[in-house]
Amino acid sequence: MSNCAIVGINWGDEGKGRMVDLLTKNYDIVVRFQGGGNAGHTVINEKGKFALHLLPSGIFRDGVVNILGNGVALDPENLWKEINEVESQGIKLTPENLKISDRASLLLPWHRMLDELEENRLADKKYGSTKQGIAPFYSDKYQKKTILAGELFYPEELKSHLEDLLEWKNLTIKGVYGADPVTISDIYKWVDDYCSKIRPFICDTGLFLKEASKNGKSILFEAQLGSLRDLDYGIYPYTTSSNTTAAYAPIGSGFPQAKIEDVVGVVKAYSTCVGEGPFVCEMFGDEAEELRKAGFEYGAKTGRPRRVGPIDIVATRYGVEVQAATCIALTKLDVLSYMKEIPVCTKYIVDGKETDHFPFPMALNAAKPHIEYFKGWNCDISGIRRFEDLPEEAKEYILFIEKEIGCPIKYVSVGAERDSIIIR
Ligand code: GDP
Ligand code: MG
Repeated sequence: MSNCAIVGINWGDEGKGRMVDLLTKNYDIVVRFQGGGNAGHTVINEKGKFALHLLPSGIFRDGVVNILGNGVALDPENLWKEINEVESQGIKLTPENLKISDRASLLLPWHRMLDELEENRLADKKYGSTKQGIAPFYSDKYQKKTILAGELFYPEELKSHLEDLLEWKNLTIKGVYGADPVTISDIYKWVDDYCSKIRPFICDTGLFLKEASKNGKSILFEAQLGSLRDLDYGIYPYTTSSNTTAAYAPIGSGFPQAKIEDVVGVVKAYSTCVGEGPFVCEMFGDEAEELRKAGFEYGAKTGRPRRVGPIDIVATRYGVEVQAATCIALTKLDVLSYMKEIPVCTKYIVDGKETDHFPFPMALNAAKPHIEYFKGWNCDISGIRRFEDLPEEAKEYILFIEKEIGCPIKYVSVGAERDSIIIR
């Protein structure tokens, strides 16, 4: 069977977790291939309501194997807490249904500490980090200054590797930030407290994926965040520190040979953005507050109110291209039901000229949105399960977006629950 990636087209929080939870019924394996515990994927199904951060959203399906690939920021402390949390909600995680790549790098206690120190130093110029240590972690990974999960099976070598890294890291902690150095006994304790707990889940997941694929198993790749937060293609430097794009999925999963036939791009029916950075279509005042309340737009990880705006066709079209999406899941359409008129950002105005083209990050600061209005439908659509049963105004809105972004909208989500979906 064919493989699939589920990726975000916008700034994140499009409803990827919700779509993974739905579509895993067709797959044998789910792999998270990038990012860390700074994600917040909310899933609501017959087992309850869950806020996932690092765990793949396939953990609710019996028989599905969930993998944390080598591309993730593996934070043993937060992962262990998250495992306990979902287990307390009745979800069983064992080395059979959760596997962690031995090639995943460990997010170490000083990464979180440095994230905080740097955001504080930046003060009003901060990047809007979730302070989970993600940027310091990825910098260190690319400097080859962190630990691979598989090293936990080599305790003697691990000790001396940690000592070397700590000596180097304290130069920055003390010398650059003037903070208290981290001690090796703190680190050993942390290894005992958390790393030993996740060790049973660690294995060669690349080998597992290769064998599974040979035996005809299908794989679903789950991304965190969205196109516009991709390190290379997003709104740099207000991006995350990894690649959120489908093209990275085979690399970050441990299965570089993987062919991905289907890329489901998740698009929200309006725009939201957590944290700093240019957000051309942003709404303000009462209009924004009303939309934020209607969509309950507060971060799952941070509780921060999300910035909101109308759907941004320019950014969404770009996001679709970057992901090479083969179809779209349009989510949260039900949230717009209260609007008499629905605003849509159809173009940008840059230097007095209209453009369809998503500009260079710095040019976004001067871009202005060109807004057009669609007639609202003003009725509850959350119970609708067939496209033809939607009000004409809703169909028009969907078909307009589909035409403008140049990608078929296959799924329309009208509620947060697993089955609140229209499949075309
Ligand atoms: P992710 O990070 O892309 O997985 O998205 P989040 O889970 O952070 O944010 C999406 C939010 O919208 C979650 O609270 C979901 O439960 C909720 N949600 C997803 N799809 C729908 C939908 O179609 N309608 C409504 N009303 N809520 C939805
Ligand atoms: Mg989220």
